[in-house]
Amino acid sequence: MFTETDIHDYASLYTSEEPDVLKELNRETHVKMIYPRMLSGHLQGRLLSMISKMIQPTRILEIGTYTGYSAICLSEGLQKNGQIHCIEINPELEEIIQKYVEKSGIRSKFKLHIGDAIHIIPTLKENYDLVFIDADKEQYLQYYQLIFNKVKKGGYIIADNVIWNGKVLLDTKKADKETEGIKKFNDYIRNDKRVENMLLPFRDGIMIIKKI
Ligand code: SAM
Ligand code: CA
Repeated sequence: MFTETDIHDYASLYTSEEPDVLKELNRETHVKMIYPRMLSGHLQGRLLSMISKMIQPTRILEIGTYTGYSAICLSEGLQKNGQIHCIEINPELEEIIQKYVEKSGIRSKFKLHIGDAIHIIPTLKENYDLVFIDADKEQYLQYYQLIFNKVKKGGYIIADNVIWNGKVLLDTKKADKETEGIKKFNDYIRNDKRVENMLLPFRDGIMIIKKI
């Protein structure tokens, strides 16, 4: 018999390696930060990189950057003149984010907004080809509604952790605030006629949404 870990290890073996700078960021996050499990990691990072390379965006927005791992992965698909805008509420993370932005050579493409995404999104003047939602689970639907008009037609919104460790299957009455937030978001997307969507049951669930 084989376990989920065996399959994960096999998938890792047959997936391109993490670039060295991301290996180092992964290690430093595990040594120095609380909640290192929030970091996307090898497999999800390569998936985000691959999706970004398929879309070849000129503008990316990330909501919830943590130590910068997913942002660096997403930036790998940017066009030559492309830019990634990242929003992170915790100012203590700025130092590690900027350190790895520098090390990965994306300084000129990278803009960090420190603050609450709910207040920052309305101030953004750009339109995006790709948005990655990975911040406060209670607020997923608010982020979606705030960014929707800033996503280009044909553009993509990707939301992480939409299975939330299986808790989305719980009865709403038994759900905590974060689970409730994710369930509300998933229900809204399911009924939103302006988009095509696919819930990818990979890792903690990734909702891929295309604006039509
Ligand atoms: N995207 C990162 C990755 O995959 O490596 C992980 C992000 S972590 C799951 C969520 C981050 O969202 C945390 O760093 C947290 O401080 C940030 N966050 C939470 N609420 C936020 C808000 N309202 N606005 C901006 N960032 C927020
Ligand atoms: Ca996540």
